[in-house]
Amino acid sequence: MLNVESLIERAANDVAKSRYAIALTGAGMSTESGIPDFRGPNGIWTKNPEAERLAYQTYYKFQRNPKEYWEQMITGRSLLGDLVNAQPNPGHYALTKLEQIEVLRCVLTQNIDGLHVKAGNKRVLEYHGSVHKLRCPSCGARFERDDKQLLELVAKGQLPPLCKQCRSPIKDDIVHFNEPIPADVAQESLEETARCDLMLICGTSAVIYPFAQLPRLARQRSIKPRGKAPFSMPEVEVGVTIIEVNAEPTPLTAEGVSDYLIRGKTAELLPLIADKVEALVSRK
Ligand code: NAD
Ligand code: ZN
Repeated sequence: MLNVESLIERAANDVAKSRYAIALTGAGMSTESGIPDFRGPNGIWTKNPEAERLAYQTYYKFQRNPKEYWEQMITGRSLLGDLVNAQPNPGHYALTKLEQIEVLRCVLTQNIDGLHVKAGNKRVLEYHGSVHKLRCPSCGARFERDDKQLLELVAKGQLPPLCKQCRSPIKDDIVHFNEPIPADVAQESLEETARCDLMLICGTSAVIYPFAQLPRLARQRSIKPRGKAPFSMPEVEVGVTIIEVNAEPTPLTAEGVSDYLIRGKTAELLPLIADKVEALVSRK
């Protein structure tokens, strides 16, 4: 088995020679920003399985009674703590650096904390939405979340907030259990998956679907090299490189979906990888 140093080296080489690298991230990315994950050893569901059971009801609540849903949401406490004041950690900034040096093309995150955007990444697909936005399930429009405005609606007894475009009740942008992934994000994520030749999967247990399907889809396909090969040459197929950076093995590790796992903390490992990639790219 290779030690961590050689795996970091291997990952940096793979990332530096990729043509279209994307990152897939999960809650583990943000634990070092003080936001708990769900299924890690100190995860919210690990410690409180009842909270997970209740979370399955949230979307139905909105469908049944949007007014009540909003009343509970505005007065309730987020299980994830203070997401508004949370700050990115060195792992987030490492991905920003990889985008700035034009190696990383997209961050596809399950996180709702907005920290990739706060860290300066430009192309971020928030697969499960963002705490900083509201969304209309009917027409798909998104709006910045303005807590002052929401409290005014509470004071005037005008909940739920209505969509400025189609007047339907709107909800927070977070995708709850049993809620469909918004069509635009679902489509763009599939496109990125079809396009990439390297996936860097960071801090996710990779058990939540349909997100967990994306690495599996990438694993199933092959990439044909750019440009036309002379007709006498057989088409060479190049597989997608899939790297996991995670505190523990996941089903992707166990099933051989990922090529290799670098076991450890994203805030420590990703900066080491990004620095090496930067050095390799500047030598090209
Ligand atoms: P998860 O809790 O299921 O898994 C997190 C994984 O990251 C675990 O395997 C854990 O061992 C690993 N991990 C924890 N800290 C790590 C670190 N510092 N470095 C490397 N690995 C670390 O999370 P998930 O797969 O993202 O699924 C949870 C769902 O809940 C997501 O869909 C997300 O929407 C939501 N969620 C979001 C946040 C957030 O926005 N920060 C936090 C909790 C949950
Ligand atoms: Zn609408």
